Amino acid sequence: MPELPEVETVRRQLAPHLEGATIEDVEILDSRWTRPWAPAEVEDGLRGTVVERVGRAGKYMVWELSDDRHLLIHLRMTGALLLDPAVEPPHTRVRFALSGDRRLVYVDPRRFGTGHLLLGSPARDAYLAARLGAEPLTPAFTTDYLRRRARGRSAPIKAFLLDQRHIAGVGNIYADEALHRAGVHPLRAAGQLTARQWERVRLGVEEALRTGIDAKGATIDDFRHLDGARGSFQDLFLVHRRAGEPCLTCGQPIRKIVVGGRGTYVCERCQPRPRPRRAQALASSRSRP
Ligand SMILES: [Zn+2]
Repeated sequence: MPELPEVETVRRQLAPHLEGATIEDVEILDSRWTRPWAPAEVEDGLRGTVVERVGRAGKYMVWELSDDRHLLIHLRMTGALLLDPAVEPPHTRVRFALSGDRRLVYVDPRRFGTGHLLLGSPARDAYLAARLGAEPLTPAFTTDYLRRRARGRSAPIKAFLLDQRHIAGVGNIYADEALHRAGVHPLRAAGQLTARQWERVRLGVEEALRTGIDAKGATIDDFRHLDGARGSFQDLFLVHRRAGEPCLTCGQPIRKIVVGGRGTYVCERCQPRPRPRRAQALASSRSRP
């Protein structure tokens, strides 16, 4: 699934082609893409608009259009945008005809991706605010913010990092890579991290995302660049999808565990497993006089 670095990679590739272009025509072939809005309604709203800016919020690509319209595209599991493909790819869901005789297609084999058109920046801001917490790599993403959001939460830190309402854009790959960099076990309760651990988690998230952006994302399933090329961050994974292989820091084999239903990769020497609560309670009762 494309995460922040993958969406940012496509955004950077798309912006120079799309900004200033007019959407001359658009055909939405799959009504799931715009649900709950009707495809014809979204087509009418897009036709004839000029793309003023291609932005990003978390895993959403945000096309700012003329007349204060905003198209929010989420690629979900297998969505991809391809510019001027030689032949129309299978699983094409949306066709854009752009000025200058350019064609942009949205393909999505599993059809979980969405394209929502919002009228006016207040509607756009409300839509995003209801779904997204702080954006990493911006001044809003501070150690203090993370500590405050996590206070009192018993959910594992891995699940906390994946919740888009806390942190925008982090998914399964970058959560594993960030926690390894931080030396924090994915099962540790979010509300019980120390200030120093939060500082390391924040830095780990930032470093993992920056490294991913520099590598133009990770391609492990369907993620593709605008021209169909692949990212290379998968070659730089420290733990993700490396079960049984030696940790690059200490040599101990990487383990695969399940946290919150997600396959999770961890070096349990570099990221010590938290002691079970029962053992903690027992230890504290034993230490009582
Ligand atoms: Zn290790």
